[in-house]
Amino acid sequence: MSASSSSPRVAVYRHEHFNAAHRIHNPAFSDAENSRIYGKCNNPNGHGHNYELTIRVSGPVDPKIGYVMDLGELSSIAKRHVTDYLDHKFLNLDVPEFATINPTAENIAVVIHGLLRPHIPAHLDVHVILAETPRNIVQFPADIVIHNS
Ligand SMILES: [Zn+2]
Repeated sequence: MSASSSSPRVAVYRHEHFNAAHRIHNPAFSDAENSRIYGKCNNPNGHGHNYELTIRVSGPVDPKIGYVMDLGELSSIAKRHVTDYLDHKFLNLDVPEFATINPTAENIAVVIHGLLRPHIPAHLDVHVILAETPRNIVQFPADIVIHNS
């Protein structure tokens, strides 16, 4: 049993921000259906959002340092691998991940998780919470697993 297995599990959160534009459009639907389903987000020339990104990292508190993870380091990882990559981009055209999938908030959260996950220690859980507007918020993965410790 490692020393950290008896440490309390804590979740820490880091908040980041980026601006990006998108167009949500499904070529399998008619123009009328696209407009009805996606509303303003189907605008042919795209439109922008101010995305508020919250990264949740959870795991045992390191008994020597007292952190789950250094939040400055988490911020640097988020900046290098997420916000520098997405900020002020037209997601559909500028970000290869969205060449074939619609940049809905749900799909953006999944992509952000994939960008972050390799850079965060494997024993820590990572959840991405993305607000596309102050009232529309998504989270990936959907479920937060409560570990017994
Ligand atoms: Zn939109």
